[in-house]
Order: sequence, then structure tokens, then C-alpha cells
Amino acid sequence: MIPYDQLSKVNLPYQADFEQAFRDFLEKGWYIMGEGLKKFESQLADYHGSKHAIGVANGLDALILAIKVLNLPAGSEIIVPSNTYIASILAIIHAGHQPVMVEPSLQTYNIDPSLIEASITPSTKAILVVHLYGKCCDMDPINHIAQKHGLAVIEDGAQSHDARYKGRLAGTLGDLAAFSFYPSKNLGALGDAGAILTNEDVYATSLRSMRNYGSHQKYQNDQVGFNSRLDELQAIFLSIKLPYLAAITAHKRDLAGLYLSNLKSDFILPVVDVDYEDVYHIFNIRHPRRDALKAYLLENGVGTEIHYPIAPNHQKALAPWFEGRSFPISEEIHATTLSLPCSACHDALDIYRVIELMNAF
Ligand SMILES: *Cc1c(COP(=O)(O)O)cnc(C)c1O
Repeated sequence: MIPYDQLSKVNLPYQADFEQAFRDFLEKGWYIMGEGLKKFESQLADYHGSKHAIGVANGLDALILAIKVLNLPAGSEIIVPSNTYIASILAIIHAGHQPVMVEPSLQTYNIDPSLIEASITPSTKAILVVHLYGKCCDMDPINHIAQKHGLAVIEDGAQSHDARYKGRLAGTLGDLAAFSFYPSKNLGALGDAGAILTNEDVYATSLRSMRNYGSHQKYQNDQVGFNSRLDELQAIFLSIKLPYLAAITAHKRDLAGLYLSNLKSDFILPVVDVDYEDVYHIFNIRHPRRDALKAYLLENGVGTEIHYPIAPNHQKALAPWFEGRSFPISEEIHATTLSLPCSACHDALDIYRVIELMNAF
């Protein structure tokens, strides 16, 4: 069996270091906001050449807090791609604003910059870009539009640790960036974790307070805050893994390269472009008989996933925000996309086996 992913195997190389760190953690007895969190935050900021990294409880909270810290008028419109994982849209709603869905490009699966301006109204205050599957959005035109209309740009980098656009890292391409370290992400914790990156001192100060009950000083609360601290133990684990991120990326790129050069032309492959250094958080192909292909691979011992089976405009929870509009490109992607094994737990032989099976489909 070639599973889609296997996290126990993904984390095996770090196990001895995790165990040692856990013993130190037990001995120290400092469980919340200790040295481990400080260290991970400064490592993460340095990695990106960002001024500040603020650890929070998970990726959804990172998005909510990144939006909240902008202090936009209640009910502002925020532009977001119509095919994103639901968290990006939920974050806008939880922050008290209105998501305005814009279709992606059928080539990159990321928000189509040429469709953004038509959705801007006097209430539009921000664009939430999502670097989906490990490919950055086309940020030059997006930042140009944002500047022209005075909009903030927030990046959802949950799937794009280490991805680059024109040489610049995801997480450094807007005003604020939200990351998730959910266990299956390219940089994954052993539980929930997230972070926000920004170069703005004012945002960073406010975010550090917001994630901790609106408090900079114990029992003194200046803001209506949250409890969204990045768990100390998860920060320690992430600190151990972060130095290997480049190796994780290289491994996934190698596996993706095998698919890209060996899969037959029946499958629509991810676009490769010199301006985009993709990290293949998800290696997806598209095929009109996607469900039959998925069943065939499973019969032959290969696990696959669909990211995502239900388009956001068909999610019951989001019905009020999608009324009366159709999203044909988003639906086309949801109907035809299939995610292939492409994880740190796989080797080249696994991928050749998947290719052989797929080329015989
Ligand atoms: C995983 C993910 C999130 C949410 O992260 P959590 O840590 O699970 O809250 C947000 N956006 C995208 C695009 C994601 O893939």
C-alpha cells in the first residue's frame, strides 16, 4: 500500500530530538509562552527575513487575528478566492466582515488577478490571497490593485511554507501573513499551531496582546483579546523541524518532478513557471474521470485525496454569502482535481509505481 500520507513516518527523522526536547520540557516545567515559543518565533521571523513572527493556536486563528489587527470598519468587504479551503472564508466572517468570492485561474488554481477589480466596491478594504497547493499567487498585479484602491493584503500561507514568487518567500508578499502548522502541512507540528508574520511594529505589538487576553502585562487587559497562544511544546517541536524545511521542500520538489516528467498527457498537471518556486504541499492533477481514477488507484493500493470535494459555494454554512452567484471555474476544479502521494514519507520508487498505474489508466 502507498498511503496518501503517513505522519508517523514523516516525523520519524526528528523523533530522537523530540524525545530529548520533551524530557527537557518536563524538567523545566514551563508550559505556556516560555523560551521555546520565543525561540521558534525568532527562527521563523529570521527564516523569512521578517521583522516579527507571532505564534498563535492554529492557522484559522492566525487568519482571524491578522484580519482583526487591521481594525477595519465592521462589515467591510474582503476579497478571497472562491476555491480556497473553508478556513480562509470563515476567518473573514469570524472577524466581522463580508467575504467577497473571486474566481481562480484554471491554470494556477489561485485567485485570478484580472477578475479582482470588478469585485471592488467602496466597502472593500482588503484582499486575502491564498497560496493554494504550495504555489504563490501572482502578487505583482494583486499588490498593484491593492495599492491603487488602498486595500490591505493578507496572505494565507498555510500551504506554502518556503514557496517563492519572483525569488521572494510566501509570507513576505503582503502586509501580514498567516501560517498553519497543522500536522500535515509542509512544516507540521504534532498538534495544532499557527503564526502570523509582519514587518509592522504596531501590528506585532497588538497581535502579541490579542493572542493573550489582550494583555501585555499580567492582569492588565487593554484590548478585548483571545486565548490563542501557540503551545510551548508545539513551538519546541517546530523549532526542531524548521531547520529541515529546505530539505522537506527539496524532497517534495524531487517527487513532483518525477510526476511532471513522466505522467502521460491525459492528466492536466500543475503549471511550472520560472517566476514560481512551488513547494507542492499538494501535488494535484486534473482528469474528467477523477472519481474512477481515484477508485482505480485505491484498488491498486494507492491512497489519494481530493482537495476539496465540495466547493465553498456548496457548503451549507456559507450559503448566505454565495446566494445567486455561480462559480464555474471553482466547480470545475472541485469536480476534476485529485491529489497524489507526494510527502516526506514517500520515495522515488513509490512515485514511479503511482506513475506506472496512472499511465495504464
Ligand atoms: C490548513 C489551512 C488553514 C487552517 O489551518 P488550521 O491550522 O487547520 O486552522 C487555512 N487555510 C488554508 C489554505 C489551509 O490549508
